Amino acid sequence: MLASIPSANLLGVDGHRITVEVHVSVGLPSFTLVGLPDASCREAHSRVRAALASSGIGWPNKRMTVNLAPSSVRKVGSSLDLAIAVGLLVANGDIPAAAVEGLGFIGELGLDGTIRSVPGVLSLVGALDCATVVVGPRAHREAMLLGRHKVLVAGRVAELVDALQGVAPWPDPPPSVPDPPLPPAPDLADVRGQPLARFALEVAAAGGHHLLFVGPPGAGKTMLARRMPGLLPDLDADSALEATRIHSAAGVSMSGGVLVRRPPFRAPHHGASSVSLVGGGSSAVRPGEISLAHGGCLFLDELGEFAPSVLDALRQPLEEGAVRVARAAVRVELPARFLLIAAMNPCPCGEGGPSGACRCTPASRGRYHRRVSGPLLDRFDLRVDVRRPDVSQLLRGDAEETSEIVSARVAAVRAVAAERGVGCNAELRGPALDAWVPLTDAATNVLESALRAGRLSGRGVARVRVVARTIADLRGESSVDAEHVALALNLRAELLTAETHVA
Ligand SMILES: [Zn+2]
Repeated sequence: MLASIPSANLLGVDGHRITVEVHVSVGLPSFTLVGLPDASCREAHSRVRAALASSGIGWPNKRMTVNLAPSSVRKVGSSLDLAIAVGLLVANGDIPAAAVEGLGFIGELGLDGTIRSVPGVLSLVGALDCATVVVGPRAHREAMLLGRHKVLVAGRVAELVDALQGVAPWPDPPPSVPDPPLPPAPDLADVRGQPLARFALEVAAAGGHHLLFVGPPGAGKTMLARRMPGLLPDLDADSALEATRIHSAAGVSMSGGVLVRRPPFRAPHHGASSVSLVGGGSSAVRPGEISLAHGGCLFLDELGEFAPSVLDALRQPLEEGAVRVARAAVRVELPARFLLIAAMNPCPCGEGGPSGACRCTPASRGRYHRRVSGPLLDRFDLRVDVRRPDVSQLLRGDAEETSEIVSARVAAVRAVAAERGVGCNAELRGPALDAWVPLTDAATNVLESALRAGRLSGRGVARVRVVARTIADLRGESSVDAEHVALALNLRAELLTAETHVA
């Protein structure tokens, strides 16, 4: 007998609909799994066999063939276990075919017969076009997020079989608990002094401009960067689902419930490999840190300590907002649109720059700066020198602006950007730049003198214009004036030696 069971498999962050076809016939007992399963998927045989045995269901002494269609796509992992087990039972006549009509199955089987959740449930469920989906209890809330399917749960294979045979009702889904409140984000009011760095943070949040802090240890670069999520607006419904899809596919859980509601903040260590940062790796193509930062912020502390090859791997995603990986005739695209904040010391000893206390040789300073390539440096619209705050600022005790006040201005600027047809001002280019960033004569003069002085490249001019647009927006002014351009230039300091800055 033949059974055909809808299920889904994960590749990158996308679910692909898979039909599990099972044929059971009389003959020499055997089990064959075809349809391009990888090693982890082929192990389904052992898991299904043990799970059925633990559930008191005998292994059919027959000739069994399982085909995972379409056979051109590689199948990875354990998400098809449950569908394979159900297909075997239907094809063997243990479950009536009518009972699985319109049902899709997603889940891994434990050897003891439990039905487990798998990474990427949200994407997997999204790939199914049947009306009802059956998952393990832990996957229930995530499977419900899309709201397109009826979701049934079963904790064990025995419960599932009883429900499908009609001898027992479907088990109740786990009780729904309200999402716990999000922990408060670190507040900008905790940062004393640092007016320029605070302003840069606000401009970065408002316009989506990548930001580089350069300064000695103890200047508060990390403390500043960690305030970014509190300045960004919460994710809208679509972005929240997209961020949740990525986190689920990576097997990373978020605090505050199943749905990722706040912009993510990822801060990988400088020892990170390019696979952990950018994604890829095994045949499953796992999303990396930059995809986990999608819709939020990626913070690279000690930028100069990252391997140059790792930083090079960032350039394409920064340009395109996605990582593209080719795997066995399939192209996988991982979303990666994030705000990049980086921090580095001015030189290896950390005391370079205006303090004049640097103990490094010119050669070691040059080597350090060359680790961050010109093209990557060019992606930072904002480059700010951060000094250690002086003692009077730390003790003065004046109240600083809170994240709540700043984030309201940020949200207003982002709303204006949306009216211009872009997600944020940083995406304004070409004709849109000319249309939305008209310069006054005085502003043009400021730019012209910066160009003549060799402070700016051709590309740099366009970026300064966009940052000036964001600054004007923050002040609620429609035209971009000389003062806005001057401020934008001030936020684009040449912090590393000129030789590293290639236009
Ligand atoms: Zn130094």
